[in-house]
Amino acid sequence: MKCSKCGFDNPEEALFCEKCDWKLGETYIPEVSFNRSVLSYVALVVGIVAVIPAVMKISAIAGIVLGAIGLMLGGYSFTIPRIMDLPNKNVLMACSAIGLILSVVAFVYGIYLMV
Ligand SMILES: [Zn+2]
Repeated sequence: MKCSKCGFDNPEEALFCEKCDWKLGETYIPEVSFNRSVLSYVALVVGIVAVIPAVMKISAIAGIVLGAIGLMLGGYSFTIPRIMDLPNKNVLMACSAIGLILSVVAFVYGIYLMV
């Protein structure tokens, strides 16, 4: 039986993984999925933070830089709930999408302020 945690191929009669001691037959929910779902909220926060310096005309560069980071984070975190079956999929996708949109606004507006 294949361990759902580490992927080690254990003998069929084994109850626990020989490699990592995981209880076989139990679905392992990786920690990464938690971290990845947090990414959606981070993308949202970065998006909001990115908009502030650009729209308030405090710093166009900060808006561009934060906007670019938000774009990467948002794009990355938006694809995760689509690929993985997470319980709060729609919330995560909404957060990522809003973060992504705000990042685009900050990025574009930051460039607009620069030129
Ligand atoms: Zn294992």
